[in-house]
Amino acid sequence: MPIASHPRLDEILDLLRARGGRITTPRRAIISALLQSGGHITADELTNQIQADYPDVHLSTIYRCLETLEELAVIDHVHLGHGRAVYHLADEAHQHLMCDVCAKVIEVPDALFASLSDRLRTDYGFTIQPRHFALLGRCADCAAT
Ligand SMILES: [Zn+2]
Ligand SMILES: [Zn+2]
Ligand SMILES: [Zn+2]
Repeated sequence: MPIASHPRLDEILDLLRARGGRITTPRRAIISALLQSGGHITADELTNQIQADYPDVHLSTIYRCLETLEELAVIDHVHLGHGRAVYHLADEAHQHLMCDVCAKVIEVPDALFASLSDRLRTDYGFTIQPRHFALLGRCADCAAT
């Protein structure tokens, strides 16, 4: 079964190759699945999607590939609330806001955190990594009710 093509698939595979990563079927399938889902899916969900086309690709292989793709900075993971880590492509840096009522995830530009980040570094010598965890709160819809 062929991997569905996506306009950005080749671009991301080029990036992977440029960083010294080999292009294997599971790696290609992971990137393709992330593109199609719009990102933010768990390793289990990824595995289910990929196994629909490639039943021989096991969860352990997927985990190994996810690790390698993260080391090569092609993908990244984020923790949304109390749930499992979810994976997304790393090429468009963004931060996550998650509504703890309806679980909606809103992506916002990294730049929004620049002044907070500078201030914490200056005043506390602390460097934040705002991308690793989502900020929890309430979305506009849920705040209104
Ligand atoms: Zn983590
Ligand atoms: Zn994301
Ligand atoms: Zn909400």
